[in-house]
Amino acid sequence: MSELRWNPLLGEWLVTATHRQDRTFLPPDDFCPLCPTKDGGFPTEVPESDYDIAVFENRFPSLKSNPEAPMVSASELYPVRPAQGVCEVILYSPNHNSSLAQEPVEQILKLVQVWTDRFRELGALPFVKYVFIFENKGEAIGVTLHHPHGQIYAYPFIPPRIARELEQSASHQKTTGRCLVCDVVAAEVSDARRTVAENDSFVAVIPFFARWPYETHIYARRHLQAIDELTAAEQIQLAAMLKTLLVAFDKLFNTSFPYMMVIHQRPVDGERYDYYHFHIEFYPPLRTANKLKYLAGSETGAGMFINDSLPEIKAAELRAHVEPVVWRAETASGND
Ligand SMILES: [Zn+2]
Ligand SMILES: [Zn+2]
Ligand SMILES: [Zn+2]
Repeated sequence: MSELRWNPLLGEWLVTATHRQDRTFLPPDDFCPLCPTKDGGFPTEVPESDYDIAVFENRFPSLKSNPEAPMVSASELYPVRPAQGVCEVILYSPNHNSSLAQEPVEQILKLVQVWTDRFRELGALPFVKYVFIFENKGEAIGVTLHHPHGQIYAYPFIPPRIARELEQSASHQKTTGRCLVCDVVAAEVSDARRTVAENDSFVAVIPFFARWPYETHIYARRHLQAIDELTAAEQIQLAAMLKTLLVAFDKLFNTSFPYMMVIHQRPVDGERYDYYHFHIEFYPPLRTANKLKYLAGSETGAGMFINDSLPEIKAAELRAHVEPVVWRAETASGND
């Protein structure tokens, strides 16, 4: 069903997951498997008639905590491993037609706390080396269920893009004595042309080196490695920054803006990563209101991205849609 195969040309793992062909594909709204189970209705993934934020194991996982033995035998050239890991789904809201952008900031704060819990819990599993929290949003990204949700993959290895950022951060630390992301934050804040929004604890920018027209990164101002190091005040600031950015995204083209959202933080393999720096990256596939950026020959075959727009211009567009976050009275103490 599922196994990890080694790609010797790139020196990285990929997973086969043929059973995922049977996944539910864009079901009608009445048959959404992520909605609360209705009285007398068909049982969904969530047996409760209501929930706030719910987390459960993906029914079509590409990684499992007790994986079956690989279907093929390994060789020296082609190592093979069981696809061990965990795949979880996080439901942001019981409301089928909502989205993270439309949820109140108080709900986004709860999500930040759920991410923190899952990072700790999955990170403590002995076979897990990296906890990858992400969201694919919108049909443009290939999402098969519209209900607002994100995912977590707990990998038995450090995935290649993270490994690359770790290498670059370690080498920067070695040559300059400083953190790479701290330097990026300082450069972006002092330049200011590419900043989208700032608050006490976080900065959102379309970085100098963005690959996608509206690629936006949220950096922690404080040098820290993982989401579970955020203080209560910083959790509130992160929720506010996410709300600000997501609302600006939606306003940009007056649409429910599609994106991939990924959280980049330290591995959980027991090593120290003091030189790394927690951040969140968004890759929206839109170039204009109705044009997508495709990953074509140069991007896919050579790994070189062609960004046909300037981050300085795109950041100004997004910045025009930034507005203050409104908290309900009871959380007003956390307002900035
Ligand atoms: Zn639903
Ligand atoms: Zn740093
Ligand atoms: Zn990153």
